Amino acid sequence: MLTIAQVYPELLGTYGDGGNGLVLAERARRRDVEVRLVTSRFGEPLVDADIYLLGGGEDGPQRLAVSLLREASFRARIDDGATVFAVCAGLQLLGTSFSVEGDDEFAGLGVVDAVTRRGARRAVGDFVTVVGDTIMVGFENHGGMTNRGDGVAPFGAVQRGRGNGDGHDGFRANRVWATYAHGPVLALNPWLADDLLCELLGWKSVEPLASVADRLYNERLRVLTRRGNRSPHRPGRG
Ligand code: GLN
Repeated sequence: MLTIAQVYPELLGTYGDGGNGLVLAERARRRDVEVRLVTSRFGEPLVDADIYLLGGGEDGPQRLAVSLLREASFRARIDDGATVFAVCAGLQLLGTSFSVEGDDEFAGLGVVDAVTRRGARRAVGDFVTVVGDTIMVGFENHGGMTNRGDGVAPFGAVQRGRGNGDGHDGFRANRVWATYAHGPVLALNPWLADDLLCELLGWKSVEPLASVADRLYNERLRVLTRRGNRSPHRPGRG
């Protein structure tokens, strides 16, 4: 049984990132995996899960979410083997600190060595990133810029938009995947949902699905990059 938890959608759900859970669960079910998609609501104990999905949020809810996650010993869950897929505010709160409007600095969960500071202006708009050798599409909307510590790998290389502000997007550290891309990004990039499933289930690769989402990914890519049609799946990945 694969348990997928959406964490505090009331706080970290401003941009429809809850859709990431639906996509992950549905793509697993279509591969005959037994799935439980659960929601950890604000005020309730954090559920046990194989993967936690953290979405984006405004500054105030983001600060509340970090204190609730600290109380819930979220970091220990990751140390115990849980995977995390985090978007934007979710990304920022996993770092050591982040500053919000007004430049006040807050302690993050310290799961990853990364510091987020305010940029001179908000980054808002289409967002295109190369992850491995595959193009990820989405949009971004954030005021923070993130510096990764030495040895922390980025999630991807930015082609369009700002991401961390240094030409890279997010970070990838052990079982933590974190990006600035909203979308919901797994609905826009089904191949990324499949990569996560491979990681979670120990699969080397997975057969692609002939879904509407997969077809739309190709169309979106053509518009955003004007590169022509490109397979959403890497060579040799089925
Ligand atoms: N509040 C954070 C920022 O503005 C994150 C925003 C978001 O999650 N979209 O940087």
